[in-house]
Amino acid sequence: VSFGAYPGLRDQSDVLGSHNGSITYGTSVQGRPLQAVELGTEGPRVLVTAGLHGIEWIGIAVAMEVLRLGPIPGARLLVCPVLNPDGVARTEATGGDAPVGALRKNANGVDLNRNFPLPYGARPSRIPFAGAMNPSSATYRGPAPLSEPESRALLELLADDPPHAAINLHSFMGTWIAARVWHPSDWAGYRRLVRAGKRAGAPYRRLGTPVLDVFTGELEDWLHHALGCWAVCMECFRVRESLRQHLRAPTAFARFNPTDPRQLVARDAPAVRAMLEESLTLGRPPLRPGADRMVPWSPAVLTAR
Ligand SMILES: [Zn+2]
Repeated sequence: VSFGAYPGLRDQSDVLGSHNGSITYGTSVQGRPLQAVELGTEGPRVLVTAGLHGIEWIGIAVAMEVLRLGPIPGARLLVCPVLNPDGVARTEATGGDAPVGALRKNANGVDLNRNFPLPYGARPSRIPFAGAMNPSSATYRGPAPLSEPESRALLELLADDPPHAAINLHSFMGTWIAARVWHPSDWAGYRRLVRAGKRAGAPYRRLGTPVLDVFTGELEDWLHHALGCWAVCMECFRVRESLRQHLRAPTAFARFNPTDPRQLVARDAPAVRAMLEESLTLGRPPLRPGADRMVPWSPAVLTAR
C-alpha cells in the first residue's frame, strides 16, 4: 500500500527526535513515544497539535510544515504532530482501508477527542458525534475523563506552562471550530483568529455558534476553559474535494487525506502560523467564574447511547 507523498510514522518520528528542542512527553497505550518539539525560548507558548485521530494524516503533514517553517517571533512554538501514534500506526498497517472508527481511536478503542474533561455547566447532548459511552462507537469517550495515557500526558506537558493559543489540526470538513464560548469578548477573539487564517489563504468557514455547539470532551473546550488558552480546531480538506476523491478511491484514507498533500500543506501551514501570530495581539481569554470547574462524567451529564 502506498501513501504517496506522506511519510510513515517511523520517518516522522526520526525527524522529530533529531530536532533541537525535541521532547518525549509520554508513551502511548502500545508503548510508542509521544513526541513534541519546542522552538524558541521567550514569550508565551503557542501550540499546534495533530494526529489526535489516527486516520487524519493531512493534519500531521500541516503540523510538520509549521515546524519546518521555524520559530514564531515573540513566542515559543510547541508542536505535537502525532497525539495518537497507535491510531496512526494502525492506519499504516491497514493501508488506511478499514472502518473509520478503528483508525480514528487509540489502542484502547477510545476517541481521544472525547476524552477531555467537560467544562462546568455542560448539558446532556443527543447530537451525533457528541461522544458515546458505548465502547463500540467511533466516538467512545472512555471510562473517565483523561483515562488514556495520551490525553494524560498532554495534560502533564501543558499544565505547568499553559499555552496562550492552540490550533488543533484535523480533517476533513474545511472548517474552523473554536472552543465553545458564550461571552461576546471571547467570541470576538475567535473571530479575529479565524480572519487571520483566512487572510493568510486558508479557504475555510467558521462552524459553530454559541447556541448550537455542545461540549463533547473535545480538546479545544478543555484548553479554553481549564487552561485559559485560545483554542481552535482546524478541519483541513474541504468536503467536496474529499467526496470527489472518495468516489474514485473508496478507502477511509482517501476520504480524509488528499492524495497529493503538497498544495494544501503549502497553503494551510502559513495560515496556522498567521492565526498564532494574531493570538499574540490578544490577551489570554479570561477564565469565567465556574467555567474552570471541570465536571466528571456521570449519567446526569452524558447521554448514554
Ligand atoms: Zn479528527
